[in-house]
Amino acid sequence: MRLIFLIFFLLIHSVSHSQNLVGKVISVADGDTITILDNKYLQTKIRLYGIDTPEKGQPFGKAAKRFTSKLTYKKKATIKRYDTDKYGRTVGVVFVDGINVNAEILKAGFAWQYRKYCKASFCEDWILLEKEARKSQVGLWKGVAPVSPWKWRKGARNSSYSKSNTGKYGDAGTGFHGNIKSHVFHSSSCRHFNCKNCIESFYTRKKAIAAGYRPCGGCKP
Ligand SMILES: [Zn+2]
Repeated sequence: MRLIFLIFFLLIHSVSHSQNLVGKVISVADGDTITILDNKYLQTKIRLYGIDTPEKGQPFGKAAKRFTSKLTYKKKATIKRYDTDKYGRTVGVVFVDGINVNAEILKAGFAWQYRKYCKASFCEDWILLEKEARKSQVGLWKGVAPVSPWKWRKGARNSSYSKSNTGKYGDAGTGFHGNIKSHVFHSSSCRHFNCKNCIESFYTRKKAIAAGYRPCGGCKP
């Protein structure tokens, strides 16, 4: 009996002294957002700290969500809180079965290390995880000219964005998608960017034109 009390007090102690949350993962909104249900039946939405996965409409957005689901859905998770975002969500590192989920997503190539917000001591290591994934071309790094989600979100607000950002490499390039049927190409901010036949990718506008594609009249890439 005494032992049980001791364990109980140790648990209370460790919970109150850390910022950890514990709960079962009841939904996965996208690659970097999950919801947990704790033992008081309270739901908490968690934004995964220090990483940014592709948005739903972006290439590999669904794959990133699937990956996070595979690791966390219906499992018991411990969340180490690091921050609260502007939407009031808890921002934390998620652990499931002793696995650091955030790092695992980076390793599998389904996220960028979130340059702007990753400030913890391990964030430098996380850049290396991202680099390793890029090098081995896993996950979204299989794709041509992957667009970081933060650029994608900007692009969605400002259609002229991609004109000035036709960088050649990885996260610098927003890239263009060409429709293999109509031979029209679109910027990443265009609603047609991921259309059914928009499967040809170009790093630059020039390359799209050289390949015989013409710019979309809507997004005017
Ligand atoms: Zn377009």
